[in-house]
Amino acid sequence: MEAHATLAEMDGELVDCRRCPRLVEWRERVAVEKRAAFRDETYWGRPVPGFGPDYAALLIVGLAPAAHGGNRTGRMFTGDRSGDVLYAALHAVGLANQPTSIHIGDGLTLRGTRVTAPVHCAPPDNKPTPTERDTCRRWIDEELRLLSPTLRAVVVLGGFGWQALLPALADAGWPIPRPRPKFGHGAHVVLPASGSGHDLHLFGCFHVSQQNTFTGRLTPAMVEAVLSEAGRAAGLLPQE
Ligand code: SF4
Repeated sequence: MEAHATLAEMDGELVDCRRCPRLVEWRERVAVEKRAAFRDETYWGRPVPGFGPDYAALLIVGLAPAAHGGNRTGRMFTGDRSGDVLYAALHAVGLANQPTSIHIGDGLTLRGTRVTAPVHCAPPDNKPTPTERDTCRRWIDEELRLLSPTLRAVVVLGGFGWQALLPALADAGWPIPRPRPKFGHGAHVVLPASGSGHDLHLFGCFHVSQQNTFTGRLTPAMVEAVLSEAGRAAGLLPQE
């Protein structure tokens, strides 16, 4: 794969990616079979690119698009319950212009913040295989490279994203300390830049999945607290 000069160029190629046979088959089958509630909609059924400006100072990293969320609407965390929680929290702390994310033309914009995932296609049971994670690594590597001039903070939603992202961050110029930082809700590690770049603040947050939010393991206040801290570390929100 040629290196791309911009995120827009990269995303233009990403949406045609077919490198993972199991995920291609699943994303396309879901798009045809659909959920009854969405039977009149045309599903996206392709890789879902990151959402947000190409000069982002804050990157939010999830797991993978949901079958009837991002895989339906074509935008990360859009059209499902996880996204409802995430974007409401981004709006509450001042990083989104509206609290809802319904479809790609709904006017949602993020302030200096981009949302992405280490796996760009919806996986069965929300579980990509290690091979699929490694195959999709090329895209997060490029996204980090292209964002690195402006990137100051990353919030990782869940342990899968954390494990997937650490090696990519190391390759992008933020070596991972030993012992390797452990994922946890509220984890905060500062990764010193290896070259002339900027230090990066890495935050952990439980995933905004229904499993976590319906059980009360993760509350809106908990998500907002992490996003506020990360927004301040990224220079997007005023210091308290
Ligand atoms: S998961 Fe990533 S590498 Fe695999 S087909 Fe989708 S975009 Fe391509």
